[in-house]
Amino acid sequence: MNVADKAGTMAAATPRRTSRRVDVAGVAIGGDAPVVVQSMTNTDTADVIGSAIQVAELARAGSELVRLTVNNNAAARAVPEIREQLARMNLEVPLVGDFHYNGHTLLSRHPACAEALAKFRINPGNVGGGAQRDSRFAEIVEIACRYDKPVRIGVNWGSLDQSVLARIMDENAHRSEPRDAGAVMREALVTSALESAHKAEEYGLGENRIILSAKVSSVQDLIAVYRDLAGRCDYPLHLGLTEAGMGSKGIVASTAALAVLLQEGIGDTIRVSLTPEPGGSRSQEVVVAQEILQTMGLRAFTPMVTACPGCGRTTSTFFQELAAEVQGFVRDNMPRWRDAHDGVENLTLAVMGCVVNGPGESKHANIGISLPGTGESPAAPVFEDGEKTITLRGEGITEEFKAIIERYVARRYPRKGGAR
Ligand code: SF4
Repeated sequence: MNVADKAGTMAAATPRRTSRRVDVAGVAIGGDAPVVVQSMTNTDTADVIGSAIQVAELARAGSELVRLTVNNNAAARAVPEIREQLARMNLEVPLVGDFHYNGHTLLSRHPACAEALAKFRINPGNVGGGAQRDSRFAEIVEIACRYDKPVRIGVNWGSLDQSVLARIMDENAHRSEPRDAGAVMREALVTSALESAHKAEEYGLGENRIILSAKVSSVQDLIAVYRDLAGRCDYPLHLGLTEAGMGSKGIVASTAALAVLLQEGIGDTIRVSLTPEPGGSRSQEVVVAQEILQTMGLRAFTPMVTACPGCGRTTSTFFQELAAEVQGFVRDNMPRWRDAHDGVENLTLAVMGCVVNGPGESKHANIGISLPGTGESPAAPVFEDGEKTITLRGEGITEEFKAIIERYVARRYPRKGGAR
């Protein structure tokens, strides 16, 4: 039984609810389009070469949109130059400009920046206060309309529009049963996003040019806010736990929040906001976002390797080494395989430590190997599509297993354009 066959019997996430679809320079967000992975650079945007290199790294890791901060004139001037550098690398990944405070000025002063960007992100809490607020917001929307660019209206609880918050607090004070402070804050976030979207439409932005987000850093608040937002509008939603943090804490918190929402059909594009470890790769956030979507069965990006955790039955560290070797082998070969073999991202592999669950789990994968545990004879049966095809022994198990994977990929996922 192959993966496609098995998919029919697997439980699935709820289909997404929005019917609107926003086109971002050829990347569809919303409707029945797959959930899009995006990321953001942490370079100084004015550093054209450094930023282009990081955008390329993120795009090659699988980021389908890359956002850059556009915070001053130098950054705005750099954006079209970064676009040109990427073109020289044959990379067409759409760039998103992140604007706060002075977006209206930068976009009107630097038309080449507006042109080079595929989408603008604006934060209604950081556009300005009082009478300026509406005119600045209108100016950005007018520029988006002129250049036919979609806009993400991205509300964040760290920069919530204070006038909206004050109004919601005032309304709450007059309720017969006032809500608690957390509920008031969540209502203010959702209201700010929705009112800004309606205002953008009044200023001429098409309903299919608007994406919303309302990010907070608490898992439970994020789930509550997005459930509410999804129930009150049909705009595509960008999901992300803001300031998720570093390492396993950031990964676990983001996964917990995003998985609940995606399972309910909420969310059309995601970003995992990880703080990189010192010297760590920025593209880890892309890998985590892909793994969230793939482990939930929403998309497939790269072959999945199932490995048991090991226990007192595993005879040596060889089992861990083989699992790591296979994982690395798959990642290293994926760029080549992706170009040459249709559907290879759906391949599943299993590396198991003993006879208890080894043969069973191996039979569920496209290719599985069950290593001998304590007291078992030194033989490792290999299963392909549920059938035992060979038993490996001796020193060369790792290389022989890799060769089996390579042959399986060539056989099972024929070359693009070739006969099936
Ligand atoms: S498959 Fe065997 S070695 Fe692996 S965790 Fe289970 S009992 Fe332990």
